[in-house]
Amino acid sequence: MRSLTWRITGLMFLSILLTVLLLVYLAEYQMMVHFTNYVAGQQTEGQSSEHMMKAMGGGQAMAAMMGLPEQVFLESIHRSLYWVGGALLLAGLLASYLFAQTITVRLRQLNTAVDAIGSGTYGQQILVESEDEVGRLAKAFNRMSRSLEENIQLRKRLLADIAHDLRTPLAIIQGNLEGMIDGVVEKNNDQLRSLHEETVYLNRLIKDLRDLSLAEAGQLILEKTSTDISAVIARAIQLLKPLADEKGIHLVMNLKPVPLLFVDASRINQVLNNLLVNALRYTASTGTITVTCNVVDRKNQSWVELTVADTGIGICEADLPYIFEHFYRSDKSRDKKSGGSGIGLAIVKQLIETHGGMVEAVSCPGEGTIFRLFLPLNNN
Ligand code: ADP
Repeated sequence: MRSLTWRITGLMFLSILLTVLLLVYLAEYQMMVHFTNYVAGQQTEGQSSEHMMKAMGGGQAMAAMMGLPEQVFLESIHRSLYWVGGALLLAGLLASYLFAQTITVRLRQLNTAVDAIGSGTYGQQILVESEDEVGRLAKAFNRMSRSLEENIQLRKRLLADIAHDLRTPLAIIQGNLEGMIDGVVEKNNDQLRSLHEETVYLNRLIKDLRDLSLAEAGQLILEKTSTDISAVIARAIQLLKPLADEKGIHLVMNLKPVPLLFVDASRINQVLNNLLVNALRYTASTGTITVTCNVVDRKNQSWVELTVADTGIGICEADLPYIFEHFYRSDKSRDKKSGGSGIGLAIVKQLIETHGGMVEAVSCPGEGTIFRLFLPLNNN
């Protein structure tokens, strides 16, 4: 039996069949005993019919004791019992089948939805009518189907974004080189410098994408060593100081002593660099960028908290939940000319999570943004 419906029907029907057979047998037995007693009472005195039946053999004793009307009466009782038993079995079979159907109808719908997803129609949802095991399975399926559809959409958008971000600089390089070959564009140092900038951008974007995809696939190999986080922060700040000075932005450090952390120093430096470059980009001159480092307790655990706070333009509440997504830019009209690759924060999040940490951002438009990174303290 390959169908669950028939298996459930069969099992239920078997138990109904056994019950009905037992009932019919008991009813017949009881009826025979009482009826024989009654007949014996009419015909003999002081001797039990059971005793007589045993002495003479059941069938013969009965036949000997009963007249024609009694036999007709017994026949009709037998027939009625068989009819009632048969009717009960039929009703039982029908009820078993209907019951099995109510259980398997959702499973069949689930099967159809899974087949549809298998053939590429994503986002299938099925009706959840009960809170039982099948209802819970349907809910879990709906959740899985929704997140699968979201992931597919995200992947499509990501591919489109990558293609767009690669295509634009390539088109610029190609157009300029063709112009130079045809003699339409002048071959001077400025032109070459601008083309070089495009290739640097392309190179960085491809490297970032590679890091991001490796980190997301859990395949990024971290070269962890015991690291003095304060030294990593100081170095990152020192490297960006000239850029900050040029923009007239104050870079402030407020570092509390923290224990050595077992991390990949170059990846933590990459994280800090992404956050600091963003802070410099979105903060006007005379603004301040403050980097802090501290030990905090959270979720029953000790963490080293690094913060990068700026007094820049801030991020509006509607954009804040999405800034760690790939290619999310709060200013949709902005491209790489006015900003970065659009995956800087996605990389920050992935790298910190690969270290077992967490990231958070709080912001107030017009006042500034704080990025908080938490790295587990006992991570060796
Ligand atoms: P991008 O390379 O475009 O800056 P990111 O992933 O680094 O991409 O940042 C995503 C978006 O988050 C940015 O486009 C910007 O809108 C916003 N953002 C990031 N850092 C800041 C900041 N310090 N202040 C204001 N907005 C920020």
